Amino acid sequence: MSDFKVFDYMSKYGFEQVVKFYDKTTGLKGITVIHDTTLGPALGGTRLWNYASEDEATLDCLRLARGMTYKAAAAGLNLGGGKSVLIGDADQVKSEAYFRALGRFVQSLNGRYITAEDVNTTTKDLDYVNMETDHVVGLEGKSGNPSPMTAWGAFCGIRASLKHQFGDDDISKYTFAVQGAGQTGYYLIKYLLEHQAKKVYFSEINERHIARLAEEHPEVEFVKPEDYFKLDVDVLSPCALGGSLNDKTIPEIKAKVVAGTANNVLLEEDIHGQMLKDRGILYAPDFVINAGGLINVAHELKGYEKDRAKRDIERIYDRLLEIYKIADKENTHTQEAAKIFATKRMETIALVRSNYIKR
Ligand code: NAD
Repeated sequence: MSDFKVFDYMSKYGFEQVVKFYDKTTGLKGITVIHDTTLGPALGGTRLWNYASEDEATLDCLRLARGMTYKAAAAGLNLGGGKSVLIGDADQVKSEAYFRALGRFVQSLNGRYITAEDVNTTTKDLDYVNMETDHVVGLEGKSGNPSPMTAWGAFCGIRASLKHQFGDDDISKYTFAVQGAGQTGYYLIKYLLEHQAKKVYFSEINERHIARLAEEHPEVEFVKPEDYFKLDVDVLSPCALGGSLNDKTIPEIKAKVVAGTANNVLLEEDIHGQMLKDRGILYAPDFVINAGGLINVAHELKGYEKDRAKRDIERIYDRLLEIYKIADKENTHTQEAAKIFATKRMETIALVRSNYIKR
């Protein structure tokens, strides 16, 4: 028997709905969590993972859905937070029928939840989902690959962080080190170079990605992963893995700004957010600075136009400045300030919409 008490967890963090579904034809096993729909329908991708247990899958889905609520709220979107996870081996379970079965379960939620791609699901899989539901975004031929847009949002967020920390956001005056030159880091490096960054370093573990940069941009200097955090640069941009800011790495940091695309960079939000603050290092909260891809895909809901989506993503600059102001005023770390910012938006909009207006 499971020890995990789903209702206790739901009540502690204000979840609205947890749905489990099973398709007897394909063996599809999944969970959809809707955390909060104060601002609008819950949006979040579908992750396919070989979870060791149902509890592990449920907890992952709950955590991810809650993260989406903050992310959408802080991104100025009229969307709530949700997520789906499918339990299975991506190499074995995928088929047209499997994803059509998923689409039917998404449709059964009647628009309270909108799905998209995530780890181990692709736009091709979503095409099958789309055959059975109207509530799916991130389709082929619409908003396209989110990574360049995520990187563009991070670039704008880096400029805001420079403005706050040094009073000047001119990229050409600063040095940068990007951790991970994958889907997002690669584009971020390109944007930094296009804006004449004084110097760009990068660290990678994938030989193919190292070779790609060496060929395309030999001026970008490679540093070994173990030397990354010690680099004497102005900005560190983590664009690889989560948990990289921790007890070991934070004391090594010489940079005055940490701002990149990676999710869950702080190993423990409160401890490591505070540690960075105490060291005078400005940290751009992950779910705010990396929301470009989400903002981009959300634009599909109102008819996608690339320029409009890009302009919307650029508002990450002003949002971060506002969050940094809150952090200073409340004397708290920036990750906490970002949550205050997101929660305040949800509370205020809920109040504004509490009167009855006929539309
Ligand atoms: P990716 O897998 O394409 O790129 C990550 C790169 O980091 C890979 O090339 C990998 O080899 C490299 N890497 C892994 N460990 C490393 C290490 N120790 N040192 C240096 N490099 C290392 O992933 P991505 O899509 O660029 O995403 C990066 C981060 O951004 C993830 O945390 C992801 O959740 C987050 N994110 C991505 C998007 C998006 O649109 N792709 C949106 C929001 C958040």
